[in-house]
Amino acid sequence: MIKILVDDSIVDEFYTGVKDYIRLNLFSKKDKDFFTSEKIEEIIKCKPNEFTKLHNEIKSKRINFHKLKLAFIGAQANSKNKAGKANGYNKFSTKKSDEYRAYNLADGLKIDVCPYCNKNYTYTIMNTSKQYTRPDFDHFLSKEKYPYFALSFYNLIPSCQICNRTLKHTTEFTLDTHIHPYQDDFNSIKKFTTTKPLVLCNQENEFEIIFKNKSSDKLQIDKADKNIKDLALELQYNRHKDIVLELKDRYDLYNDTSIQIMLKDTKIFKDKGEEYIKSLIMCSDTKDKNINKRPLSKLIKDISEELELL
Ligand SMILES: [Zn+2]
Repeated sequence: MIKILVDDSIVDEFYTGVKDYIRLNLFSKKDKDFFTSEKIEEIIKCKPNEFTKLHNEIKSKRINFHKLKLAFIGAQANSKNKAGKANGYNKFSTKKSDEYRAYNLADGLKIDVCPYCNKNYTYTIMNTSKQYTRPDFDHFLSKEKYPYFALSFYNLIPSCQICNRTLKHTTEFTLDTHIHPYQDDFNSIKKFTTTKPLVLCNQENEFEIIFKNKSSDKLQIDKADKNIKDLALELQYNRHKDIVLELKDRYDLYNDTSIQIMLKDTKIFKDKGEEYIKSLIMCSDTKDKNINKRPLSKLIKDISEELELL
């Protein structure tokens, strides 16, 4: 799990792009009076900590749930309502290069690695004539249960297909039970470690990769534990013990003395500094702010810190 950092211009661009996809003309006069353009902007831009307040407000209006679904998501694929299929989120998630679509949001976010697993690449590839690949957008709060958040920016989590369609799938995530990648920083709550000190291990069967607590905030720890369980993170990461063992071997290959020799004798290393050499040794960035750039960066960083490589 890696926190997603975003600037307001992307949220504004998303709002402008999708606000007219919500079919307000389906609603009664009374409901239309509630869904003013200001309210639609509030729904699309609401932060995770505002979801509950907005949910309670919409619920109190007793709006027909079927109409909410049709307006904010669109008709189901097997529906006879052909026009309805092109409403709301359905419209956003189809391909059409001359209008704002999921590809545009994915391209703007530049999330190269899945924030849920930090394992699979999720970059977007598109050009003027073709859209090739993009991340899935997981609805953190299910769109079936909360259709009015189907096009809410902070409810759309760019993620890999395995996390979205296989692991999370229909598991209910809520802000009371799970870490939200736009709101919470998993990296400051949990840290990878091994069940036995790595310096004493030579074989994969000698240790397990597990998480330990970095924070003392009990609520955040409990939520992070739910994410770890529901996204099968420990099970997945234990398939990468080979990388962890290689880190230990790299540590033996490149100790402080050899790094100092490289710094002294090689111009490119002299120019780029010690941190660059360490990032080469680990095949990963050493800064917390860059652990979203490459697969397995958090694992490599946390284990490298334990090995005192960093
Ligand atoms: Zn993933």
